[in-house]
Amino acid sequence: MCAQEEHGVSIVVDIERCIGCGLCEKLCPAGIYKLESNKTRIKEERLSYCFVCRACEVSCPVQAIVVIERA
Ligand code: SF4
Ligand code: SF4
Repeated sequence: MCAQEEHGVSIVVDIERCIGCGLCEKLCPAGIYKLESNKTRIKEERLSYCFVCRACEVSCPVQAIVVIERA
């Protein structure tokens, strides 16, 4: 597991599930993901740009990503 939180948004990626398809990296409009060694990685410095569009969450073929917005 890998979790990052900033400005009330948490992104949790289950690295064990990730199959390295690269969809999250390709689809995230905020450029938050980066594929490394066939696993996705969250670029911490980009996390504050997440606007909770959930494109990553709904597109991941193995449901490895959960985006949590805290009130
Ligand atoms: S919710 Fe949208 S902006 Fe946030 S990490 Fe996912 S694809 Fe990127
Ligand atoms: S979309 Fe899912 S499986 Fe594909 S690289 Fe991202 S986290 Fe991994």
